[in-house]
Amino acid sequence: MPIYEYQCLDCGHRFSKFWRSLARAQSEPPPPCPRCGSEQVQRVISQVAVLDDLGGLTPSEQAAVNRQAEKEAKILPKSKIDEFRAKKTKGRGG
Ligand SMILES: [Zn+2]
Repeated sequence: MPIYEYQCLDCGHRFSKFWRSLARAQSEPPPPCPRCGSEQVQRVISQVAVLDDLGGLTPSEQAAVNRQAEKEAKILPKSKIDEFRAKKTKGRGG
């Protein structure tokens, strides 16, 4: 039986839920927060749980970390940028 961990985005409360089957856990919506009743809950993956234990990140900080990770994934190496620029300048004045 899978146990999924969730975090409330409103109050930051973390809780886990037993699912009878993996299919249910994946197809049904996450349970509301048992503390404040909010339905704004997010499934916690183990990596985030570790971060949270270390630094005590709030949900908004976690969101910022996720955004930062996305941004970094989009940064191109300089060689790629030069390649793009070369193409652009070639295209002009033809
Ligand atoms: Zn809550």
